[in-house]
Amino acid sequence: MRILISGAAGFLGSHLSDLLLSQGHDVVGADNFITGKPENIAHLKHHSHFLFIRHDVIEPVKVDGTIDRIYHMASPASPIGYVKNQVATLKVNSQGTWNLLELSLEKGARFLMASTSECYGDPAVNPQREDYWGNVHHIGLRSMYDEAKRFSEACTMAYHRERGADTRLIRIFNTYGPRMDPYDGRVVISFIRQALNHEPLTVFGEGRQTRSLCYVSDLIRGINLTMESDFHEPINLGNPDEITILQIARDVLELIPESRSQITFLPMPPDDPRLRCPDITRAKQILGWTPVVHRKEGLKKMIEFYRGQLVKD
Ligand code: NAD
Ligand code: UDP
Repeated sequence: MRILISGAAGFLGSHLSDLLLSQGHDVVGADNFITGKPENIAHLKHHSHFLFIRHDVIEPVKVDGTIDRIYHMASPASPIGYVKNQVATLKVNSQGTWNLLELSLEKGARFLMASTSECYGDPAVNPQREDYWGNVHHIGLRSMYDEAKRFSEACTMAYHRERGADTRLIRIFNTYGPRMDPYDGRVVISFIRQALNHEPLTVFGEGRQTRSLCYVSDLIRGINLTMESDFHEPINLGNPDEITILQIARDVLELIPESRSQITFLPMPPDDPRLRCPDITRAKQILGWTPVVHRKEGLKKMIEFYRGQLVKD
């Protein structure tokens, strides 16, 4: 197949490109580098089945030739990234989604929307099932992201119901692994960078808020299985291994025993969800998918990737 990935130079888009190329497909990657990096796809520069287009998908997307699948992965994804790029985040998850849905109709391509667990906001139920409608502060400091992703979901379902677009919808929970931007402020990469540099690990609040961490290879496999399923409703993809942020800091310090870092406590950012854990019953039933990489195993792989790259002294 010939497959378009928006956001191909990002953390997830680059791993997805690798998987699809390993399956023998042709991949067309589009990115404007607003949060992604050329280094993430440097190894694909001379790959005969990979074509890169520098393009902002807020503008209409024109691709010559056939396209069989479109994965819409483009969007700033870290709180620092989307607060710094508020309007761009709203646009890529509205006009960008729109443009790629139009392209999917033009090409007869199947379309997958990468949505997020942020659609559940600060959840009143835990774990979150796909039929929970969420608790979102729609004008708050995360609204340019969570509200725009909710719009993208509505847009995807409308194109499916009214225009017959062949769509898939995933809600991704916190994912970690190599190629995360060390400075985008997301928790796992921040703690690893800080520990390798012997700097304080910055735990926000008392660190009692929870997240559920999925290793990147598990997630990418789930995304691909969703695309190749025949299910149109949203599917949660994440690892239900729910832990506190303080525990993540302790795990990182345990796995980097040479670190001289201590844990420091800083104020909690506004609208930070207190709980986040996926109910993955649907993914198990529909896709036969379940994450297999244990947290400490995933953290070790990620630390090995960054060890030596980040250490300043
Ligand atoms: P990332 O920032 O590493 O990658 C996103 C990529 O999209 C970047 O390369 C960026 O330059 C590109 N991009 C942004 N706007 C664009 C535009 N208008 N045109 C073209 N390219 C554009 O983030 P990521 O973690 O790889 O996230 C990928 C997708 O998965 C995002 O849609 C994000 O919302 C979703 N998601 C990720 C997570 C996670 O834990 N990583 C969780 C939930 C949802
Ligand atoms: N967090 C933290 N210290 C950091 C970065 C994040 O304590 O240096 C916390 C943050 O407050 C949140 C959790 O870790 O409760 C996950 O943050 P991240 O930005 O990775 O993702 P999201 O909030 O979008 O789930």
